[in-house]
Amino acid sequence: MLKDKVAVVTGASRGIGKSIALLMARNGARIVVSARNQTLLDALVAEIHAFGGEALAVAGDISLTEDANQLIAAAVESFGRVDILVNNAGITHDGLLLRMKDEDWDSVLDINLKGAFICTRAAAKIMTKNRYGRIINISSVVGEMGNAGQANYCASKAGLIGLTKSNARELAKRNVTVNAVTPGFITTDMTDELSDKVRDELAAQIPLGSLGDADDVAEAVLFFASERSKYITGQVLGVNGGMYM
Ligand code: NAP
Repeated sequence: MLKDKVAVVTGASRGIGKSIALLMARNGARIVVSARNQTLLDALVAEIHAFGGEALAVAGDISLTEDANQLIAAAVESFGRVDILVNNAGITHDGLLLRMKDEDWDSVLDINLKGAFICTRAAAKIMTKNRYGRIINISSVVGEMGNAGQANYCASKAGLIGLTKSNARELAKRNVTVNAVTPGFITTDMTDELSDKVRDELAAQIPLGSLGDADDVAEAVLFFASERSKYITGQVLGVNGGMYM
């Protein structure tokens, strides 16, 4: 489905990003994977090579402009261009509003929102020249609904939806689409911190009755990355088991 396309996936060392990278690689894309942990990235690249895929690891901190620019430059240097960018890297630093420290606000906004902005700016330079691009931002259901104790995280994820729509309008003329996926509760390291009791309570609120898995999100991203979505831009697709409609 993505034969000969070059895709950059941030936050690909584990969880949802890793599933996205593997699914895209299995569908023929050449993949550039990024995160801070070089060892995990190297293991992922080896896994992709093992099934005959092409991949490159570029370690860096996505909140730093220099690292984001270097990531896109490395993709161009190795594979000649960038067709697909998945802004997936994200963190949480939860806390009640009255106790939230400036550092907790800044770090979450810097990684989750600024990281997507600076990667998009660098990739869009290449995509607009090539008159082709697919940008997918991984937001969250709580960016749509809000969540107590996550003011910083929800603001960053709602911000990603605004970024998605603005960039979609700005880049459409150059055949660059920009869409967002909003996962609900997905089983990864990020949700492993929840107790079994909380997990059961959450599942009870989800119409489809369970947490999702990373591949559920990866399938939605693959759709936005492919030609099947060529007439879709500026949209937000919930992958949430029906918990928000
Ligand atoms: P995860 O397992 O914690 O993985 C997060 C990824 O982001 C890791 O690869 C991590 O790698 C990378 N990352 C974190 N900070 C980074 C930085 N400064 N620079 C570069 N990479 C960085 O999380 P996940 O559950 O897969 O979540 C992936 C995305 O989906 C996030 O944006 C998250 O907000 C969103 N999401 C998740 C859920 C869920 O239920 N799991 C729900 C809605 C939305 P390093 O630590 O090696 O840098």
